[in-house]
Amino acid sequence: MKARREKNETNQIAIERIDLLLTRADEIYPEEPDLALRYGELARKIAMKARIRLPKRWRIRFCNNCKRFIRPGINAHVRIKSGKQSSVIYYCEICKEGKKKKIIQKN
Ligand SMILES: [Zn+2]
Repeated sequence: MKARREKNETNQIAIERIDLLLTRADEIYPEEPDLALRYGELARKIAMKARIRLPKRWRIRFCNNCKRFIRPGINAHVRIKSGKQSSVIYYCEICKEGKKKKIIQKN
């Protein structure tokens, strides 16, 4: 019987795998977008299974609506909104609906 892993250890492994998958997905996106989307899906599944949130820098890269991994310049475009609360908005071009907002902290 396998020894039960500590929760922290499992989370660590999950984060490592998510990082690896998404970094790889980012690299291959221009050549193989389908495979990159699959990697994104896998990474999301790993996060769900381990019951952790995706790391912040990756969370912004998933569409709110279709939950797919997006890449600016290929299937997403980015707009900057200034004002009281500056934000970066990612528009998903796969479903044409989803958008992700990232608020920039002012110093
Ligand atoms: Zn979408």
